[in-house]
Amino acid sequence: MADDCLHIGILALQGNVIAHASHLQALGARVHEIRRPGQLNDLDGLILPGGESTTMLHFLQQDGFWAELQHFASHKPCFGTCAGAILLAREVQNPAQISLGALDITIERNAWGSQRESRIRSIALADDIHTLEAVYIRAPRIIRTGSAVEIMAMDQNDPIWVRQGLSMATTFHPELTADLQVHAEFLRGIRSQMSSPPGHP
Ligand code: GLN
Repeated sequence: MADDCLHIGILALQGNVIAHASHLQALGARVHEIRRPGQLNDLDGLILPGGESTTMLHFLQQDGFWAELQHFASHKPCFGTCAGAILLAREVQNPAQISLGALDITIERNAWGSQRESRIRSIALADDIHTLEAVYIRAPRIIRTGSAVEIMAMDQNDPIWVRQGLSMATTFHPELTADLQVHAEFLRGIRSQMSSPPGHP
C-alpha cells in the first residue's frame, strides 16, 4: 500500500477489537479488520486481540486461515494481547492447544486462581521512570521464555510483556487504558525496520 501510514491488521474474529483500533488510530496507523484468509497480504503488522483463544482457533481452522496466519507470523510483526499471546506462543498449557509458535514462550492459560482472575496492577518498568497499568482479565502466565525473547516488563516474578524480533505479546490488556506506550513500541519497531531493513545498516 503506497502511503506513509503503517497498515496494521487486527484479527477481528472475536474479542476486543475496537479498543485496539482506537489506540492504533491515535498513533497514526491505518487499521484493517481481518476476518478472512486473503486479507493479510498487504499488512505491515497484525494485532491478535484478547478474547477466548479456543473460539478464535475454531474460526482460524477453517478455509486455510491457519496456514496463512502461520506464514504471516513467521516473518511479519505480530502483537498478541492475552488470548492473542496464547495464539502466538510456541507452547500452550492448561490445556495444551495448537499455537503459531511465533514467540519462543510457553504460556499457561487461565493461570491465576479465582481471586486474581481479573485485576489491575501498577507496574514499574525497568528504567524505574515509567510505569504502566496492567489490566488482567482471566490472564495467562508466561512460564518459560527462550533465549531470543526479551522481557519488556515483569509483574513480580512473571514476564508480562515480551518481545522477539518485531513481534511481541502481553498477558495484560494495554488497549483498555489510555496509555499508548505499548502500542507505540510495536509501531516504532516496525518503522525502524522499514528505515533500515536487514542488510542495509
Ligand atoms: N482466558 C482466555 C484464553 O484462555 C484469555 C483471556 C483474555 O484474552 N482476556 O484464551
